[in-house]
Amino acid sequence: MAFTAIHPDAGRIDASRIDLGCGLDWMQIYRVRPRIQLGCPECGFGVHAKVSPRGLRYFAHDPGRPPECQMSNESIEHHLLKLELATAIRAANWHAELEVRAENGLWRADVMAISTDGERRMAWEAQLSPITNFDLLSRTARYADSDIDVCWVSPRDAVPWLGVVPAIGVAEPADGLGWTVADGLARFDNRNGAWFVVKDTALETFVRWVLAGKVNTHFILDRYRRIHLGGKRQARRNEIWTTDKSVQLERAHNVMRERQTAWKAKKDREEQEAERRRLAVEEVERAEAERLRKIQEEIHQAEAAEAHRLWKIEWDTKQQVLEAERLAKEEQERQAEAQRQERDRLEREAADGWWAEVSDAQWQELVAGIDNHCLKHLGGRAAVHRTPTEPKYAFGIPVYVGGWLRGIARPNPGSLYRLGEGLLAFVRSKREAEMLAAHGNITPERIVCFNLPDHEQVQLF
Ligand SMILES: [Zn+2]
Repeated sequence: MAFTAIHPDAGRIDASRIDLGCGLDWMQIYRVRPRIQLGCPECGFGVHAKVSPRGLRYFAHDPGRPPECQMSNESIEHHLLKLELATAIRAANWHAELEVRAENGLWRADVMAISTDGERRMAWEAQLSPITNFDLLSRTARYADSDIDVCWVSPRDAVPWLGVVPAIGVAEPADGLGWTVADGLARFDNRNGAWFVVKDTALETFVRWVLAGKVNTHFILDRYRRIHLGGKRQARRNEIWTTDKSVQLERAHNVMRERQTAWKAKKDREEQEAERRRLAVEEVERAEAERLRKIQEEIHQAEAAEAHRLWKIEWDTKQQVLEAERLAKEEQERQAEAQRQERDRLEREAADGWWAEVSDAQWQELVAGIDNHCLKHLGGRAAVHRTPTEPKYAFGIPVYVGGWLRGIARPNPGSLYRLGEGLLAFVRSKREAEMLAAHGNITPERIVCFNLPDHEQVQLF
């Protein structure tokens, strides 16, 4: 079906207009005899005027139409939408022409809106069948080349190309009160900083706003491209129909956001700088603390080294003193030993002389005297044996009584200091007793003298 046809005399006629767009009446072409030869503007095949049961006027191809004719393939729904658009355009006091073809064939508009002065044209495309974004963009560009605006209109839900080109989604409410715009028209909500789709605007109102320039297409700024469709639904859109006011709100909001971003970036830079300074100060403080610690450590090391040096000196000195003392002691002992040996030698020499004075006979006399004395005073016989004299017996001869050492016979006078405590000293004569006493180191009571003659009795023949 189609709304336009080529009249043999009037040329292009439009069934959506009362005068068919050329001063003719519908009744002059509808069911007239003889039949007027009308042609399809698309394929040139014969068409005839028809009226639908609901009173819609249109043209239908004669039987045997070419199957490739786009006009004949368009659905009734498509045609009704075109009619709605044409009606809305005319209500806005613009001319509306249906199924208009470019002279160069680059485009064919479903409905072409033309301003009364003929200066401005805008195509309204009822797009019901699936179409690629590429096709849409190239067809939109072709209109732009001819200085024609365009709005793509879809009665389908959620077509993927909304927002790709200037486009709206439309709906025919169940109440039959006329078509409304369901998608594609949006307002910027300053409080939320986002675009919201405006629903339920009458299609006629929307068309009037667009033709009057109150609503225009707008390329959404990057950060606002996720727009709210109502409820929780969102969609990404590049292009939207909206008012200048919303565009200004978006721009102002964007400036505010950019200012915020710049402010935050500045804040971040300041924080980074502060952090950098803090770290630098920390580094300086750490280095200073480390320097002081090293100095302290060096001081401690020096102190410890000095303490060790002093201790070493003290120790060495002490060792030297001890060594000197040891050597001195050794020397003392060596000298004492030499003195002792010398004294022993002298005493032994003296003792040898002392004993040379006594003959064997005189010795026997003394032994007899000792034996007698011991029997009388010490309660036992004396055991006296002439043995080599020894220093420990003061160079005399030990006298045992009953196994006990009780005295010394003839101790050397010069060795009396060696005589054991309590021991008696037995001597022959008063002279010997006096010699012992003269040396001291013994009390007279301990000297036992037998008053024997000093000189051997000369044997008289
Ligand atoms: Zn045709």
